[in-house]
Amino acid sequence: MTKKSASAKKTGTARKASPAGKTASVRKVTPVKKAVATGASVAVEKAAPAKKVAVEAPAGESRTALVRRARRINRELAEVYPYAHPELDFENPFQLLVATVLSAQTTDLRVNQTTPGLFARYPAPEDLAAADPEQVEEILRPCGFFRAKTRSVIGLSKALVEDFGGEVPGRLEDLVKLPGVGRKTAFVVLGNAFGRPGITVDTHFQRLVRRWKWTAETDPDNIEAAVGALFPKSDWTDLSHHVIWHGRRICHARKPACGACPIAPLCPAYGEGETDPEKAKKLLKYEKGGLPGQRLKPPQAYLDAGGRPAPPLGAA
Ligand code: SF4
Repeated sequence: MTKKSASAKKTGTARKASPAGKTASVRKVTPVKKAVATGASVAVEKAAPAKKVAVEAPAGESRTALVRRARRINRELAEVYPYAHPELDFENPFQLLVATVLSAQTTDLRVNQTTPGLFARYPAPEDLAAADPEQVEEILRPCGFFRAKTRSVIGLSKALVEDFGGEVPGRLEDLVKLPGVGRKTAFVVLGNAFGRPGITVDTHFQRLVRRWKWTAETDPDNIEAAVGALFPKSDWTDLSHHVIWHGRRICHARKPACGACPIAPLCPAYGEGETDPEKAKKLLKYEKGGLPGQRLKPPQAYLDAGGRPAPPLGAA
């Protein structure tokens, strides 16, 4: 938490006026206990009593104020989720590319439970390119849309073999030429397997940045451009993780847990979900109560923070 926001929360005093010179309204918000101190993610059991904090109204918000608010939200989320990471298990760019394609219309957990069997049998693009589709379909069945996904992963493996020497290319313009690979998938791979900055505009990202009024765009490419302009490139990959983690864990599509949200004072959509702190706590997903994350092999930082690996397929 920044010194400034910490101070505001500590004193419970109203913060600054809006850019248009109007004083921001004040409402009650119960801040969530931050994960950093305990090591447990999104720990809420000992949430502080409700305090009055200011609501920053975006109406008439200047560009400068928007940039500041957006970056502040990202900083706050970085404190709540210091170990945020891509939630697909992978050991190389090929595995991440295939896993990302498989993640359409299903959970990362289900993909993570499926890919160990797939990569044990087909470890390289050459293997998957030459695979019998029926056998791949059987492995991918738990992911849903398994026939279409089989076609996609075999097709992109063939393209990798024929056009890129069996290697996953590290450039956006090459990745999007692969069958079934759009900008979202390409940025996931670039950001997480190649360390090149990328913004992942998935369903959570789209929903949250609109709630926060970072942009009114609805087209993913336009959202990517609009949000990218608010942050330095070096922040893009981590920003994507923070936003997606928040969307999965607190700011849900249908019932956002506003009363348990650590960035409520910065959110113009506060009140769209449950504001009662006790009821909001009950809406929290995943790590509440020590439930595991999505990865069977999560990064060490997540384990160090008290996170637990997800179980393999059929174990839970
Ligand atoms: S809508 Fe509610 S849960 Fe989502 S960020 Fe805003 S205050 Fe938090």
